[in-house]
Amino acid sequence: MSPEFALIEQYFTRAPRHAALGVGDDCALWSPAAGFELALSTDTLVSGTHFFPDADPHGLGHKALAVNLSDLAAMGAIPRAALLALTLPRVEPAWLEAFAAGFWALAEAFDVDLVGGDTTRGPLSITLTVLGEVEQGRALRRDGAKAGDDLWVSGDLGGAALALRLVQGLCADPVADVEALKVRLNRPQPRVALGRALLPIAHAMIDVSDGLVADVGHLCERSGLGAEIEWSRVPMPDGLRDVQESLRLACVLAGGDDYELAFAAPAAQRSAVEALGGVTRIGSMVAGVEGVRVLDASGSPIRVERPGFDHFGHAS
Ligand code: ADP
Ligand code: MG
Repeated sequence: MSPEFALIEQYFTRAPRHAALGVGDDCALWSPAAGFELALSTDTLVSGTHFFPDADPHGLGHKALAVNLSDLAAMGAIPRAALLALTLPRVEPAWLEAFAAGFWALAEAFDVDLVGGDTTRGPLSITLTVLGEVEQGRALRRDGAKAGDDLWVSGDLGGAALALRLVQGLCADPVADVEALKVRLNRPQPRVALGRALLPIAHAMIDVSDGLVADVGHLCERSGLGAEIEWSRVPMPDGLRDVQESLRLACVLAGGDDYELAFAAPAAQRSAVEALGGVTRIGSMVAGVEGVRVLDASGSPIRVERPGFDHFGHAS
């Protein structure tokens, strides 16, 4: 067997639990359940752009899948299958072993089949494509928010961005719980169960990958509305309370990599949303204004620097 096929066989071939046909043919085969449609998404992690070249491979295997499952969560879809396109500078068994272990641990936790992929040589890059199923016509899109909806977020925000700054030596303040923050950066937990629970309740949803203001901005744009966020309500990990205000604002409002869910739900559903737990109401969707306004305790807008990350944006 060629080294390429041996590698695929050794690390990335497991019998699929759901797919009609998995790794090994020209295509995988998938039959969606009756009454469901497919939700499809892909995301790439590039060495030097999304992670340090010496990043822990187990964490990378986890994160590459996690960020994709987060997109399925944000539609209210059930994760089903994944395709992995892996570009490697060289074959390093220890690296592959750890990467595969990180990947499979999360894949099994979410009952996801790896049904195919591609393996090439070149600068390290990891592309995952995921397939999920969601009840026909029911997916929680970005364009469904209504004026007067409550705006909610899951978990807390800014931990991953602060961890990144700590790792890069860009934060001089002493910070509590550094290890917990690094977990937020390296092992995001896709909010799949919450996404499913919100399917019959919420109007619109997005996952927070590029920063709260940027991502809620996408909800606003697609829904033709504005949003008002009360800064005092936005949840953040304890470590962020230790840093200076400007860094706190940057991490919580514009930091990326949180992979929490931001969603708009009717005010009449407030107690139903509350009952799901792990969610915080941070503001509301408003008509007649554009974009996202973050308000301080006195109701004045807070200026947000650098809202979100854009690979092709101008260097700031
Ligand atoms: P083809 O030349 O037909 O595109 P390949 O030779 O690239 O197929 O791959 C052979 C089989 O292995 C295919 O089923 C493909 O989906 C699968 N495969 C290749 N690389 C990976 C990978 N990194 N992870 C999972 N499956 C893979
Ligand atoms: Mg082929």
